Amino acid sequence: DGLKMYFPITAGLFRRKVGDVKAVDDVSFTIYEGETLGLVGESGCGKSTCGRAVLRLYDPTAGSIRIDGTNIATMSQTMLRPMRPAMQMVFQDPQACLNARMTVASIISEPLDEHTKMSKAEKLARVYELMDAVGLNRDFANRYPHEFSGGQRQRIGIARALALNPKFIVCDEPIAALDVSIQAQVVNLLEDLQEKLGLTYLFISHDLSMVRHICDRVAVMYLGRIVEIAPRDTLYQAPLHPYTQALLSAVPEPDPDTETTRQRIILQGDVPSPSNPPKGCNFCTRCPKVMPICREIKPALVEVGPGHRAACHLLDNNTAATAGPTGGNE
Ligand code: SF4
Ligand code: MG
Repeated sequence: DGLKMYFPITAGLFRRKVGDVKAVDDVSFTIYEGETLGLVGESGCGKSTCGRAVLRLYDPTAGSIRIDGTNIATMSQTMLRPMRPAMQMVFQDPQACLNARMTVASIISEPLDEHTKMSKAEKLARVYELMDAVGLNRDFANRYPHEFSGGQRQRIGIARALALNPKFIVCDEPIAALDVSIQAQVVNLLEDLQEKLGLTYLFISHDLSMVRHICDRVAVMYLGRIVEIAPRDTLYQAPLHPYTQALLSAVPEPDPDTETTRQRIILQGDVPSPSNPPKGCNFCTRCPKVMPICREIKPALVEVGPGHRAACHLLDNNTAATAGPTGGNE
């Protein structure tokens, strides 16, 4: 079934400047309605900046962000306001984003206060409905965040994000701060809610096993750029970019029977500073397959298969042919 391009969000040509740091540099991708797009990479690669820019929590320096065809990249906050309810965010650390002095009921109903003219009774009814939806006991409505476990606090954060019936939610490392034992519960909740409410997710994570479980497509970021994007199974079974291959070499196979002798690729060196990225390919200082051209010219993100794009000179026919088997330094 072809995915509909009914709800595309294209974050094209960002040049997000944080001081002189290119946190997100020339990134383009589309999110289709009802899907979960994973955005993965090591910490500091620009994932969160990208997620926040898509929601216009940051102003992009350049580029466009299209939601249902409307470019929101240059809209004023006043014009954005009526669109805000449709796009929400779930944060990594619910502790940090829940006001400790507010009750659960007031935290969840805050977006309703801001964006609706509901009566007090209507708001309370909605709060109960949302607490049911995320599996929180209604009796806890008047308690404070510190009285809850990490997993329950994330449920409060999710209920709040759902208050205004969003279509699109950016989940920024929603389980990274949680105990491993409850991570699956929160992920299952997100999946159930997606199905029931027809939600679209951008799921930011460094946990490649979890991303494999929840995402339909996956984009891999390195140093502010997307280096590979593909349908989930393609990416996990046949990654083409050397950085994706290195990342995945560290992920255990889900089925121990198929555990092959896949070799762990250990990357040398540190991620360069985004304020001083390499001249050519951003990965050239650490790539096990680096070629001379890699230090000169940035590879473009090009189509390498159905729905599969990657940015590497090895995948560019002309380059690979001329570089030959001695081109690498393996
Ligand atoms: Fe490695 Fe060169 Fe490909 Fe960059 S372009 S990932 S340095 S082979
Ligand atoms: Mg799903």
